[in-house]
Amino acid sequence: MAKKTTKKNVTKKAKKNSKLDTQAFSANLIIQKKRDGGSLTTEEVKWFIDSYTAGTIPDYQMSALLMAIFIRGFNTTETAALTDSMLYSGDVLDFKDITVIDKHSTGGIGDKTSFILAPIAAACGVKVPMIAGRGLGHTGGTVDKVESIKGFNTSLTMKQFSEQLKKKGQVLIGQTKEIAPADKKIYGLRDVTGTVESIPLITASIMSKKLAEGASGIVMDVKTGSGAFMQTLPDAKALAKSIRETALRFNKNIITMITNMDEPLGHYIGNSLEMIESIETLRGKGPKDLTDLSVELAGAMVYLAKKAPTLKAGVKMAQEALDSGVALDKFRELIALQGGDASYVDDYSKFPMAEYATDIVAPKNGYVKSIDGKALGLYVVDLGGGRKASADKIDFGVGFVTFKKVGDKIKKGEKIVTVYHHKHQAPIIKRIEKEMFERVFEIAAKPGKKIPLIIETTTSWSK
Ligand code: URA
Repeated sequence: MAKKTTKKNVTKKAKKNSKLDTQAFSANLIIQKKRDGGSLTTEEVKWFIDSYTAGTIPDYQMSALLMAIFIRGFNTTETAALTDSMLYSGDVLDFKDITVIDKHSTGGIGDKTSFILAPIAAACGVKVPMIAGRGLGHTGGTVDKVESIKGFNTSLTMKQFSEQLKKKGQVLIGQTKEIAPADKKIYGLRDVTGTVESIPLITASIMSKKLAEGASGIVMDVKTGSGAFMQTLPDAKALAKSIRETALRFNKNIITMITNMDEPLGHYIGNSLEMIESIETLRGKGPKDLTDLSVELAGAMVYLAKKAPTLKAGVKMAQEALDSGVALDKFRELIALQGGDASYVDDYSKFPMAEYATDIVAPKNGYVKSIDGKALGLYVVDLGGGRKASADKIDFGVGFVTFKKVGDKIKKGEKIVTVYHHKHQAPIIKRIEKEMFERVFEIAAKPGKKIPLIIETTTSWSK
């Protein structure tokens, strides 16, 4: 079992601290200070986060501070204080004796690379701990998706998590109350208060979890484009820099890749649908963009784990693990290890699926100029495939299959999208049909500009 380097029961401790400090700080004054553009001290940030985690600051004050941070920003010291407070709101694992490499994505539409790259990297001998999130805003969550496989248990104890990682080399769980509990609470609140797309909040959210799970190296997929939280390249670069700086501050090796999210990744969007496309990709039958990105990210993990001398050599090893079928076997093993029904891999009809499939066809000839992935993600939420309120239950069976990519030629009457939905959702489907070529697919006389899948790769070694 990995060593926990920090205090246990930090939540209790935070409660005690916040009681002691109530004289020294005022939540209201801290909110006002940030609202007016001031910089918070490390002590103020720590007190606020500890008190919120302990339950002595209510959701409405945390929401107000989140909105103030969203609008006013945080400098690097404030961001580090936020990351540190969230990291030490729970246990911090330290796998001193083994090299553990994780990957994280800032979130995008149809982003299902975790299910492909984790077994690939594990097949190459990398230890891959995944503490993944649920859906956030318009993007789906890894944990929601994998739970479409019956029995898959994403709530292992930390002891089970560590033992499976050490013995089997891969593990996938949701956020636990032990790991960064502050992030779990804050993440749920951001999802429903319009405070997701913020560089310091995303940095602290991601890094607190990654640092707490004991990874010595992290591969970070920073998405940019219409389907991403960071829609412009300068914002994505700023987020990648913020994440790298935070990783180095905490002595972690990191590779950031800025990748294109100007159109959905792959063709399938929705929980069950994305699992099916992931498995097809592990079979070597996946779409090119999803396959290429998964192999590149897995290759970066192999390189960071020092299993390959260069990034290029890491990517080659990853491709071989995919082509040989070893990675698919590793995925079957992961499902079985976590109590899931591995026969789903060979029988897709077992996945929960909505009973209606409505095709939407092209209204005219032309080329696909752009695809608004965010709009598709929001439709999935409308159909019940994501959450509007933190307590909402997920519908695994709804979603979209898209048949065209940016630059593709289309003919009038050709099928562009199939929507999976329920009978009672006919009014939403009517709206989606109406909006599909007003809001989502832009058809033009000439093809749109194709943006490279991987825009920038930066490797930073901590020492
Ligand atoms: N992923 C996270 O874990 N947190 C964020 O804030 C955004 C993406």
